[in-house]
Amino acid sequence: QAVFPKPAKTRRIAVANQKGGVGKTTSTVNVAAALANKGAQVLVIDMDPQGNASTALGVPHASGDKSVYDVIEGRAGLGDVLTVCPDFATLDVVPASIDLSGAELEVADLPNRNTLLKEALDLYLRQSEKHYDYVFIDCPPSLGLLVINAMCAVTEMLIPIQAEYYALEGLGQLINTIGLVQTHFNPVLLVSTMLVTMFDRRTLLSREVYGEVKGHYPSIVLNTTIPRSVKISEAPSFSQSVIAYDPRGIGAIAYGEAALEIAKHSQQVLDAIDARRKNN
Ligand code: ADP
Ligand code: MG
Repeated sequence: QAVFPKPAKTRRIAVANQKGGVGKTTSTVNVAAALANKGAQVLVIDMDPQGNASTALGVPHASGDKSVYDVIEGRAGLGDVLTVCPDFATLDVVPASIDLSGAELEVADLPNRNTLLKEALDLYLRQSEKHYDYVFIDCPPSLGLLVINAMCAVTEMLIPIQAEYYALEGLGQLINTIGLVQTHFNPVLLVSTMLVTMFDRRTLLSREVYGEVKGHYPSIVLNTTIPRSVKISEAPSFSQSVIAYDPRGIGAIAYGEAALEIAKHSQQVLDAIDARRKNN
């Protein structure tokens, strides 16, 4: 069995792509679960008002429940609203509910509107007696204030890319937005990881998309691709990650391999972030 190296410092990773349906939530939940399954201490923060990551990790998130909305609004700390995922003792989840859809407008006039999540996460990580190896933030499909908050709160971005014809369309816009966040708020922010999802090895198109993305970003794109799998798509309806729902299936194996690659990159990524910190 593969050994998962632990990062020397907490890795903070936002999972973003303004396109919907590319596998952001699926990748957040399953990479996080795969790492927790190997003993890593993991925190997942759901920043999508749809709350799909909360659902897939078995955490209640009805309107009015305590959630990340209360944190963004300054009524609670992250530690007050997090829950342990029922399937993995080392996986904590900060849920999101539909209430979060009001937050962008409600905080729009605050001078620190872009860094509300960062301030809450910094405080929580400083005060919590738990040490986290990984913090993942699942972003909504936009480039709005919630996503900017996620980008300001982390040091790394993981961009899932769906293996389909228009895969690279919109990637330029996302990279531009990341550049703006680097310039104005978070100079350290690094695009550390791209993961090709819904890959079908039988089709030339999937292989072409992979080759194209890998050609553009050779050191960032994981060698592991995530295949299309019915088990991956049905796991959330059982309130589970595919790691818990079908641990020996191809979906769990692929996400396990992606998680291992991410873990193995830890030192290299932390060094690259430190180098950015020194240069800024
Ligand atoms: P996003 O968060 O980017 O909007 P999701 O992770 O919710 O995307 O995925 C969109 C849809 O595709 C969901 O219904 C999900 O279950 C399904 N899906 C994601 N990855 C896979 C996969 N590898 N195989 C099959 N279905 C998938
Ligand atoms: Mg999603």
